[in-house]
Amino acid sequence: MKKFAIITDFDGTITTRDIGNALCTHFGTMKAGKEIKDYDTKEDPTLWFDRFFGPIKASREEFESIILSYAIVKKGFEELVNFAREHKIPFEIVSGGLDIYIKPILKKHNLPPVPLYCVRGTLTPKGIKTAFPDYPEIALDDFKAQRVKYYKDKGYTTIFLGDGLVDLEAAKQADILFATAYLAELCDRNKIPYKEFKDFTKLLKMLKESYVSLPA
Ligand SMILES: [Mg+2]
Repeated sequence: MKKFAIITDFDGTITTRDIGNALCTHFGTMKAGKEIKDYDTKEDPTLWFDRFFGPIKASREEFESIILSYAIVKKGFEELVNFAREHKIPFEIVSGGLDIYIKPILKKHNLPPVPLYCVRGTLTPKGIKTAFPDYPEIALDDFKAQRVKYYKDKGYTTIFLGDGLVDLEAAKQADILFATAYLAELCDRNKIPYKEFKDFTKLLKMLKESYVSLPA
């Protein structure tokens, strides 16, 4: 039987919309829907975060209530996390988003802790400061691909889920790819096979079928 490992993006993949973009649009530092497509994966991310998140000033309470007003987690996510835990399927989130919005969203859904690689954000009176201790020496798209490769090298059948340009390198590495939105467009253009997904029900069905097919 195949040993699966699941690596997933967060913004626009676990949630119905990109929370980072929603926040920047809310605070007026970004025009809706544009910059995510223009994001240069090889640019110094500090510049990008300073430009869009740097000017955001809010108390933690205000910040979290704004996040939660935008965050809708896609159907089946909680069941998927629990299924992975029950079946000892490695499951991790690899994101270019900030811990200060990802963690409150996961907490609100009472999810068991899952490994999370992301950008660290700190709310200060002068704005949001960011740091990159999880992937200090590598571009985000290459880091995502590296996490997929890590499990492939250990003999896992890797499942990757993503929605954006920064997911493309990981998408190329994954054994099974679930793509949506702009990543699906990019995969069409680059002839990378994928399964289109709106939520996690398709992946759950696939996993359940492979786990019940074991002979007694
Ligand atoms: Mg995304």
